[in-house]
Amino acid sequence: MTQTFDALFENARFADGTSGAIAVDAGRIAAIGEAARGATVRTVVDLGDTLVVPGFVEGHIHLDTSFYGDAWKPHKPCTAGFDVHERVEFQRQNMATAAPMDERARSQLELCISHGTTHMRSHVMVDGTVGLKPLETILAVREQYRDVIDIQLVAFPQNGILACPGTAELLDAAFDLGCDVIGGLDPASFDRDVKGHLDIVFGIAEKRGVPIDLHLHDGHLLGIFQIEEIAARTRALGMEGKVVVSHAYALGDVSADILARTADKLAAAGVAIMTNAPGDHPFPPVLALRKAGVTVFGGSDNIRDSWWPYGDGDMLGRAMMIGYRSGFYTDQELAAAFDAVTEAGARALGLESYGLRVGAPADFVALEAAHVPEAVVAVPGGRRAFKAGRAVTTDGKLLQRTTRTA
Ligand SMILES: [Zn+2]
Repeated sequence: MTQTFDALFENARFADGTSGAIAVDAGRIAAIGEAARGATVRTVVDLGDTLVVPGFVEGHIHLDTSFYGDAWKPHKPCTAGFDVHERVEFQRQNMATAAPMDERARSQLELCISHGTTHMRSHVMVDGTVGLKPLETILAVREQYRDVIDIQLVAFPQNGILACPGTAELLDAAFDLGCDVIGGLDPASFDRDVKGHLDIVFGIAEKRGVPIDLHLHDGHLLGIFQIEEIAARTRALGMEGKVVVSHAYALGDVSADILARTADKLAAAGVAIMTNAPGDHPFPPVLALRKAGVTVFGGSDNIRDSWWPYGDGDMLGRAMMIGYRSGFYTDQELAAAFDAVTEAGARALGLESYGLRVGAPADFVALEAAHVPEAVVAVPGGRRAFKAGRAVTTDGKLLQRTTRTA
């Protein structure tokens, strides 16, 4: 090998059981495994025989509405069973007394980065009640952290679209500011107009050439009906691989034959499903969907916010939760849970280049685990994370001055 690379990361163990090194040049993986041995480099980093995995993908989070880093806000239960409208009202009340949004977003973001998350998709409220201010705030925060994490932002109509005057125009305007993905929220139960809601969401996606990521809490056949509508529109517009349904609780409610039929439609339309494996809801059956060819990926969703007090921004912990709630015990099943926070997440987010492969950005995490199944059940701390070959965390702590100042 005659070429001189920037850095060589030695003594790495990989998921397939092999050991070797990773050569990095200009922020990308230049050689890996045996091929990297003996490379001429400027810097050598010893990974100490740790398990090296791709940087984690946080597929669904809300940077604007978390109170992580703020004063504890006790959870308020709904008065007559779970109700999205009531939770949104609680959120409005809590936000009025919260610390500034940029401070809270930074706290949450640093928490995620410290665990080894290198890619993220965050929904941000854009609607007639809050306008574009939260998006402007989170865009500025994203800029400060752009050297250490890649963030996609979703324009999220938390108060509905048709139910909230001015929202459709604001959602469209979000793309002039730098938003990446168009969101949606329970077309049936929130806006009570499936066609009207989806016309606006898919209309903006088509006009702006952006992907879709829609929250769907509606259960049972009401949820299935909307999933079918979303899959049909996705195929009609040739948007295969660019549409996500987040939560899709209905897939966990219905019989095996309805699930199989719906899964086939999702697979044919290339619509991915995001789950956080919620504690109090049936949720999509991960293995059955994967078997049908559906991409299933993970996200933290809410962290210490007006919806629930849980969440720590650790995607490896999320993989454990997905596995735990799904009853995953075999190595193959545990690997599927891990896939949900790495490769499947990258696919759902449409990342151009990801993973431990030549040419991909050198985004990886070094863990104290023998292999991936053990990493999922043990959730080891003290990780080292690297973004574009640069150390971002050490011993599970964010290195100072990794971010840009405003
Ligand atoms: Zn959400």
